[in-house]
Amino acid sequence: MSDRKYIAKEEIERQMTLADRLYAEIQPRCLKFYVETFGCQMNVRDSETIKGILARCGYTECAEKETADLILFNTCCVREHAEKRLMGNIGALREQKESNPGLIVGICGCMMQQDGIAKKLLRRFPHVSLVFGPNVVFRLPEMLGAVLSGERIALTDEEDFAIAENLPRIRDNSRSAFVNITFGCNNYCTYCIVPFVRGRERSRSMEDIRKEAESLCASGITEITLLGQNVNSYGNDLEAGSFAELLDKLNFVPGLKRLRFMSSHPKDLTNEVIAAIARNDRVCHHVHLPVQSGSNAILKRMNRKYTREQYLEIIRKLRDAVPDVEFTTDIIVGFPGETEEMFRETLSLVEEVGFAAAFTFAYSPRVGTAAASMHDQIPEDVKKRRLYELNALQAEKTVENNKKYIGYEGEVLIEGCDERTDETMLYGKYRNFKMVYFPGKPEEVNQYRNVRVLSLSRNSLIGERIDG
Ligand code: SF4
Repeated sequence: MSDRKYIAKEEIERQMTLADRLYAEIQPRCLKFYVETFGCQMNVRDSETIKGILARCGYTECAEKETADLILFNTCCVREHAEKRLMGNIGALREQKESNPGLIVGICGCMMQQDGIAKKLLRRFPHVSLVFGPNVVFRLPEMLGAVLSGERIALTDEEDFAIAENLPRIRDNSRSAFVNITFGCNNYCTYCIVPFVRGRERSRSMEDIRKEAESLCASGITEITLLGQNVNSYGNDLEAGSFAELLDKLNFVPGLKRLRFMSSHPKDLTNEVIAAIARNDRVCHHVHLPVQSGSNAILKRMNRKYTREQYLEIIRKLRDAVPDVEFTTDIIVGFPGETEEMFRETLSLVEEVGFAAAFTFAYSPRVGTAAASMHDQIPEDVKKRRLYELNALQAEKTVENNKKYIGYEGEVLIEGCDERTDETMLYGKYRNFKMVYFPGKPEEVNQYRNVRVLSLSRNSLIGERIDG
C-alpha cells in the first residue's frame, strides 16, 4: 500500500471541474438518480458523498427506482447473504434497462473491493456499466463521463486507500450528521472482512474534523456522530492528537448540543477516553461497546485482544465516572469452536452487564477471513438455538433496563412521528440513547423537548412532555 495519506487537492479540483462540465450536459435533460444504501453508517455516510457528487454532475435525486436514469447500489459485504441479495436486486433491473436503454446501473461499496467481484459483476450483468469501490468515490465524475460516452467501468482501489477531503455531499437529515474521523481498520478480528476491503486505519486531521463540525453546526445541525471502525484508536497514525483530545476540542463547537461516537473497541477504551466522556458536557452518555463473546477462549480466537475481565472493568469504570451511561453491544454466537459452556459465559456476561440493547448475530463465515477456514465450525441448528436463547435473555434485560426509567425526566431530540394510531406519537432519544414515545405534533420533529417517562409498552418507554 502507498504511504500517500491524502488525495491531492489538485486531483479533487480536477474531478470537480469534470463534474461541472457534466452538469452542463446533464442538468438541461432533467436526469434523476436513485441511490440505495446497504449496511452500516459508514456506507450511509459514503452515500451522502455519492449523492453530493451526482448532484454536482447535474442529476437530481428521486425517491423511486422506476423513474431514475441512474441507479446505484451502495453495497456492504459485512452482512450475511449480502451478495445474494445484491444479485437479485441487479437482476430485477434487466427489464427496466430494456425499456430505457439510457439507464445507467451501477454498483459500489465495500463488497466491490473483494477479490474479482467487480469484473465478475460486469461479466454477469451486461446491463451494469459502472462498478467502483468506496475508496475511489472521488473519481465518480471521471467514471460517469466515461460511462456516458459508452464505456463500461470497473474501478476498485487495490493500491491506495488515501483520504479524499472537500467532496460535496447531500445529507438526508437536517438535525443530525455523521462525521468520519477514521477510515479502515488495523485490528484484523478473525471473523471480519473490513480491514481487507477498507484498508489500514487512517485518521483525518483534527483540524479537518473540527472545520467540518463547525460548518455543520453553522448550518443548523445540533447532533454529530463521530464514525470510525474503532474511534478509540483515532490519532494513532497522527503526530499529535488522540480521541480524548478530539472530544475535548469538539465539545466547544458553537451550536453543537450532542456529540456521539461509534464504534468503540474495548482494547482501546482508555482511562483518558473515560475521563473525556465524563468531563465534556456535550458528549452523550452512551457507549456502543461490541463485546462479541463472554468467553476468553473465544475472544482469543476472534483476536479481540481483551478479556472478559478487562471488558467488565471498563464497564465498571465508565459507570463510576458517568452514572447514567447506557451500553449497547454486538454479540456473535456460534463462532468456530464455541462450546456450550463458552456460550453460557456469553449469557452470564449479558446478565451481568445489563445492556440497554444488543445486536446479536449467528456467526457466518466471510470468505478471505481467518475464521472462515477454522475447522471446528458450529452446526447451523446449534447457532440458531443459541441465538434464540441469547435474544430471549436480552429481551428480559431490555425490559429490566426500561423499568428503571419510570419517572425519569430529560431532554429528547425528536426523530420522527408515528401516525398509525388515533393519537400522533412522536419518538426521539434522550442523551443516553434511550428512545421514548410521547404525544405531540408532526411539526415538532427535529426539535428538543423535555419528556417524563410514565409507562412501558413492550420494549418502549412512553412519556409526556413536561415543558408545555
Ligand atoms: S475492529 Fe474488528 S470487527 Fe471492527 S472493523 Fe476492525 S476488524 Fe472488523
